[in-house]
Amino acid sequence: MKQTLLLLFWAVAAAQAAEPDWKPIEDRAVTFLQRYLRIQSVNPPADSREAAEFFKKELEAAGFQPKLYVTDAATGKVNLLVRLEGKDRTKKPLLLLNHFDVVPVDRKAWSVEPFEGIIKDGWIWGRGAMDMKGTGTIHLFSMLTMKAMGEKPPRDVLMLVTADEETNGTYGIRTMIRDHWADIECEYVLDEGGFGSRDMFTTGGKLAFGISVAEKQAFWLRLKAKGTAAHGSQPIAENANMILLDAIAKALALPDRGNQNEVVARMRENLQQMAANKFTNAIQKNTISLTTLTSGVGSPVKINVIPSAAEATLDCRLLPGVSSAEFLSEVKARINDPRVTVEVASDPADPGASKMDTPLFAALKKALLTQHPDAVVTPILIPYGTDSVRLRQKGVTAYGFTPMVVDAATVATMHSDEERIPVSEFKKGIRIFYELLKSDF
Ligand SMILES: [Zn+2]
Repeated sequence: MKQTLLLLFWAVAAAQAAEPDWKPIEDRAVTFLQRYLRIQSVNPPADSREAAEFFKKELEAAGFQPKLYVTDAATGKVNLLVRLEGKDRTKKPLLLLNHFDVVPVDRKAWSVEPFEGIIKDGWIWGRGAMDMKGTGTIHLFSMLTMKAMGEKPPRDVLMLVTADEETNGTYGIRTMIRDHWADIECEYVLDEGGFGSRDMFTTGGKLAFGISVAEKQAFWLRLKAKGTAAHGSQPIAENANMILLDAIAKALALPDRGNQNEVVARMRENLQQMAANKFTNAIQKNTISLTTLTSGVGSPVKINVIPSAAEATLDCRLLPGVSSAEFLSEVKARINDPRVTVEVASDPADPGASKMDTPLFAALKKALLTQHPDAVVTPILIPYGTDSVRLRQKGVTAYGFTPMVVDAATVATMHSDEERIPVSEFKKGIRIFYELLKSDF
């Protein structure tokens, strides 16, 4: 559509009514998302030039002035920032945060083309539909609709789309915080994290919307075992593989500490009955996953050689408030073997939980209930990491929230195969964010 035609589109959609004419807006948003899913902004290399231009065009046609930040010209990493002016310009803004990049696909495990934006059986399919092009498009269209309707949010609303969330945000959120903080300084952030579900959080098919207010700390460890090389025909006690296996078993034997986390306590209170699954299990305690094992001599590895060294990595996730230094010394004490070293491979951040009783949380709840009157809305803790942690470190109140109802099977398609979202939920999401931006916070 040409720019003048686009302007005309928004003029007709708004047409001085109290309520937007949703049908054409929703249709346009669905088409936009399909085209967005066709842009292969895979990370690595996280080349976001095409996606950023795609957003920029749509915004400029509606009268916005988006700004692009080229953070790595060699690989084409670009961030986009746009502002919708609010009524009270003295208040710090609300920042809507999403990302252009998506993780790679295992093409043969998909039943549809992952980069075609196909609509089938009421679902939009494609890499990034859940994580996070669907929500990014919802952010965008809620702002476009506000502008077209002549509505002003209570304070400025910014939307930041980053290039490389999927590889720890070096050129995305980290660069924006380090070099452009004045441009994005805000009181609130809405990011990914929580969502609505009938089976993820609670039992009996009750609809619960989880809004994440905190995340666990990613604490990564590398175990290295040293032994003696020998011929596989004659077993020895100093076999590095056996030393490592013993150390891993001891490291994994986490003591049961009970759960004192305040966010989880609030979840229990609101949900009454917590569902039993890997998600709810992970948010109630410290966890360790054995993620890699490296050993053997030669390539291909020799079956008849006992190696002198073996390595494993442990992805430990600690509850907010747990000291990583203490956790580490407990792991070392359990292993208690001079032949095994434990190295730290990540630097966990623990800014704690964002406040749960804020005008924004109340406004979110109200906006959600307009589309899902039967929902329980609760703060949640999430087991994985998001960009929100960097913003919480800057003192920002950050909530993670995908405005769609999805089941556990759909959530599991993130970073996996057959990623998709229900078209109807995507459309509701735009209305939820529009309601939110119009309300008081
Ligand atoms: Zn994401």
